[in-house]
Order: sequence, then C-alpha cells, then structure tokens
Amino acid sequence: MAIREIFYANDPRLRQKAKKVKNFGPQLKKLVDDMLETMHHACGVGLAGPQIGVMRRIFVAEIPADEDNPHSGKPFVLINPEVIWLSEEMEEGQEGCLSIPNWYGLVNRAKCVEVKAKNVRGKTIRLKGDGFLARVFQHENDHLNGILFIDHIKDKEKLWQILPEDMEAQEAQVGEVAQTEAEAVETPTT
Ligand SMILES: [Zn+2]
Repeated sequence: MAIREIFYANDPRLRQKAKKVKNFGPQLKKLVDDMLETMHHACGVGLAGPQIGVMRRIFVAEIPADEDNPHSGKPFVLINPEVIWLSEEMEEGQEGCLSIPNWYGLVNRAKCVEVKAKNVRGKTIRLKGDGFLARVFQHENDHLNGILFIDHIKDKEKLWQILPEDMEAQEAQVGEVAQTEAEAVETPTT
C-alpha cells in the first residue's frame, strides 16, 4: 500500500470526466488499497480517482463509526458507480474537500441515494445511503464528472474558509469542554 499525492482544485484533472474502469485485476486491488490508505491518512471520509490523478470512475468512502448508523465505520469501494435513484427530499449540510483544503460550505443534496456499482472483483452491487453517507456518495460521484462541491454553492455566504492557524487560535481560547464541542461539529472532508 502507498499514500498517493492528493491534487488540488487548480489541477485540470479535477475538472475532467473520468473513464470507466475496464480491468478488474490485481492492479485495481492495489489502487483501491492505496486510495483507502490515502483517505485515512488525510483524515477524509471519501476520495475519488481524479483527486489522485487517476482518471477512472472509482471512489472510496468511509464515515466515522457511529453506533446508530449501521453504514458507518466500514469502507465502501464503488467502481463505475451510477446513481439510480435520488430522493426528492433535499437536505442542506456542511461539506469540505481534500482537494480544496480549508474551505467549507453548505450544499443542498438529496437526502437519500441509491447507487449501482461494481466492487473490486467486478461484481455488481447496489447500495442505499442516507444522511451523511448519501452526501458523501453524491460528492464523490460528482468528482468523477469534474464537479466540485463549490459549484453547487451560489450564495457566497454559504462558503467559508477556516485556516489551520484560526483553528489553533480558537482552540487556545476555549476550554476543554468547548473544544470537544468544536471537534464534534468539525466537517469531515471528502
Ligand atoms: Zn471532494
């Protein structure tokens, strides 16, 4: 396994459409392992091929373990994903992106999503996600089409920057209890 370099939004590859995965061999297994390791290392909850310069339709996702959510705490690997259903009900929620460090925003997305994809062995899988997982699936699927979360934000007030030094300054000012609260609302990046 290896940690891959994550490319930023100014890289033209982040704006291109990725191509379908055709070969389900050992190289794909290695790519998936690298993507999971890179995502964990960057403390992200999702990572798509174009973010590491691999222009293939593949993403990984894993949301933090939460005993109320059976989909949490386990890795998802989606190859050639297709969104086959989106709920009419929408939900606005916070997002960040490993390719757009320090920027966060409020994005309106479908609350539930159903996705058809291949797993690493080429077997067709169907997955339903709701809440935060549905958000991550939609965010990552966008990456495969050259779309970034900031594209969905029309109102500038819903996009903001938090620099690491600002976070440290905030943490230095607040007590330990408040700090725990601040960590709880921290937006995971994908
Ligand atoms: Zn992203």
